[in-house]
Amino acid sequence: MPQRRESDCIFCKIVAGEIPATMEHRDEHVVAVADLNPQAPVHLLVLPVEHYADVGAIAAEGRDDVAAALLRAAAMLGLRHGGDGGFRLVVNTGTHGGQTVGHAHVHVLAGRPMRWPPG
Ligand code: 5GP
Ligand code: ZN
Repeated sequence: MPQRRESDCIFCKIVAGEIPATMEHRDEHVVAVADLNPQAPVHLLVLPVEHYADVGAIAAEGRDDVAAALLRAAAMLGLRHGGDGGFRLVVNTGTHGGQTVGHAHVHVLAGRPMRWPPG
């Protein structure tokens, strides 16, 4: 069981297996699941096993190991699922960043051309 957990956090519940999710990857630091409301043919979420409110908290606490694990897993999944078309990693943070779930996560999007800049 993770050391850090918020009782009302849906992503902590996914990590603990209390909310069902399609699991794509799991290691010491992170899990990756399919997004419930996909915005692209491939839409995965990479979450730290421990609860951090956002990537700022991971950085502020000096958890370079967690930060590296998030980026490594997200990039590996993007490579695997994006193929020659590539992929996009997104980290929405805070209100202006459009973050809706307060447990840090990286979106992995692939399978269609992406627009730039995002909205
Ligand atoms: P954010 O808006 O915070 O960057 O992204 C949160 C993401 O979590 C959204 O894309 C949303 O579809 C996804 N999401 C919300 N609740 C659940 C859930 O219970 N299960 C899964 N797999 N994804 C969820
Ligand atoms: Zn959490």
